[in-house]
Amino acid sequence: MQVEAPEIAAAPAASAKLAGSIRLLQDTVRDFGRVVYASSLGAEAAVLTDLIFTHAPQVDIFTVDTGRLPESTLELLGRIERRYQRRIRVVFPEAQRVQNYVADHGINGFYNGLPQRQACCHIRKVEPFQRAIVGYNAWVTGVRHAQSAGRAQVRTLEWDARYRLQKVNPLLEWSGAEIWNYIRQEKLPYNPLHDAGYPSIGCAPCTRAVEPGQDSRSGRWWWESPESRECGLQPRQLPGSISDL
Ligand code: SF4
Repeated sequence: MQVEAPEIAAAPAASAKLAGSIRLLQDTVRDFGRVVYASSLGAEAAVLTDLIFTHAPQVDIFTVDTGRLPESTLELLGRIERRYQRRIRVVFPEAQRVQNYVADHGINGFYNGLPQRQACCHIRKVEPFQRAIVGYNAWVTGVRHAQSAGRAQVRTLEWDARYRLQKVNPLLEWSGAEIWNYIRQEKLPYNPLHDAGYPSIGCAPCTRAVEPGQDSRSGRWWWESPESRECGLQPRQLPGSISDL
């Protein structure tokens, strides 16, 4: 299905919002020292990566290669590294745990039920994330209020009790149109799947295109009820649910 490119609205990213996001990143580095950003390589990640590499390069960026990512996501990683002449740390799941999971549930066992899906997300995303953030004091996320009802209550700065980290959300007030305006204005590298109707991109077998106007997260784990469509990194969501990775 070919769907029109996402939200190509005319409004430019408001300069005040942009300045506020940059200031927040720089203040976070000043106040918390070791700061990390777990990039999903999605649209918000394109903006945050640009802001970090350009204005707050002390923030460390990593991404998780679950082993089931679309090829276009891995190609995007290479394009980002070439553009900024910086290496992004890639964290992998523990091979033995993946092998055990596949032996128990099958190669695509995540389709068999919520516990099996959450177990796969835990092994391939949550555990690598937990390993990657050890030693940091603050975690930057690309969460936005407009992404879902569950994210509408998130605040700019929050204490994340689960990971014992300060959570910082610099893009909270940005609209989808502002994200895409900034990407186009700055000619940032992004995943071509976005132009094919994928607003949110995760692992290939668990992501599909959505119809124009549908909830941006409805293409993730579409076979489940909407309440469970998160991966377990966002503490306000259901347990077991990292969603943007
Ligand atoms: S998104 Fe799907 S394939 Fe990826 S870790 Fe979660 S269940 Fe496994």
